[in-house]
Amino acid sequence: MDARADADARPDPDDAGRAEVVRALGAARRIVCAGHLPLDGDGLGSALALAACLRDAGRDAVCLLGAEPPRNLRFLPGLDRALRMSDPLPFAPDLFVALDGSDLARFGPMADVARRAGRVAVIDHHVTNARFGDANFVSPAWAATGMMTDAVIRDLRLPFGRDAALCLYVALVTDTGRFSYSNTSPAAHEAAARYLALGVRPERVLRHVWRSQQPGRLALWSEGARRTRLAADGRLGWTVLTREMCERAGVDAEDVHDLVEIPMSLEGVEVAVLFRETTDGLHVSLRSDSDFDVAAFASARGGGGHRRAAGFSLSVPIGEAEERIPAELTREMARA
Ligand code: 5GP
Ligand code: MN
Repeated sequence: MDARADADARPDPDDAGRAEVVRALGAARRIVCAGHLPLDGDGLGSALALAACLRDAGRDAVCLLGAEPPRNLRFLPGLDRALRMSDPLPFAPDLFVALDGSDLARFGPMADVARRAGRVAVIDHHVTNARFGDANFVSPAWAATGMMTDAVIRDLRLPFGRDAALCLYVALVTDTGRFSYSNTSPAAHEAAARYLALGVRPERVLRHVWRSQQPGRLALWSEGARRTRLAADGRLGWTVLTREMCERAGVDAEDVHDLVEIPMSLEGVEVAVLFRETTDGLHVSLRSDSDFDVAAFASARGGGGHRRAAGFSLSVPIGEAEERIPAELTREMARA
């Protein structure tokens, strides 16, 4: 058995947090489940699955959406029963389950709902998680928050059907880069096997999540490729996504999160960056294909994430960020 498989077999050092979250969910009567913003496959898939399984067990639970889901995730089952911030909640919640987000600020306007609920349960795999809940199941050992949610659902012995399996499969397949990033453990494949056995069709997920692009996105990719720059002897690459590029392409910036793959795909690139203009400033996405810890780099700038995928926000013009951040990264990469 290799070291990884062995690690998967070991008891989870965060079992205490897991039991706490299971207890909180067992005791709560009116539960709100929410994924961090911007909504992604792991956070949204986990929130939808947990809310659906709780409801199938006769419990009062809703999935709350802090924003509109990106186009490619709108096929997820259960979205028709999810609530927007503008919808009245059907009950006064006594537990807010925060999924896949490392601090309460990641939940945007939903943070108020969490405060009103009075009790927060956190399920998350980000190494930078601030353990901001009353119960915290937090462990970077898990490939996806979806797998942790699955563990909690099993501990609670909730009914688990094909819709929940589809949501958790999407959580897993998006967070592991379709089972190719370093977090792709034997346990991740085992979970996927269970989801397929319940009827999940991977080719349908591929079509919805990755093969449903608007033509304008291809123009964005080509411009993203054209605007890719290298530094640190080709070990650092970055590109940009401006509001103007999105407008010209007719694409909603919120629907574009994967452009960082362009610099990352170049031979020799160990760290890739995407500078993305958003409605409230600039978001910096970081990826690492080496030991360089981008979570540490992002945390030092008010963001967070994983060792190999992290991000933070900045409020400077994109041109200034393009000068400053690659220079800082080059210095830190030389030191690492
Ligand atoms: P992305 O670059 O795709 O937006 O995010 C990569 C990873 O870093 C994700 O796991 C995401 O949750 C985390 N991340 C991105 N931006 C931020 C941020 O501003 N704050 C924190 N805490 N985490 C972030
Ligand atoms: Mn995740």
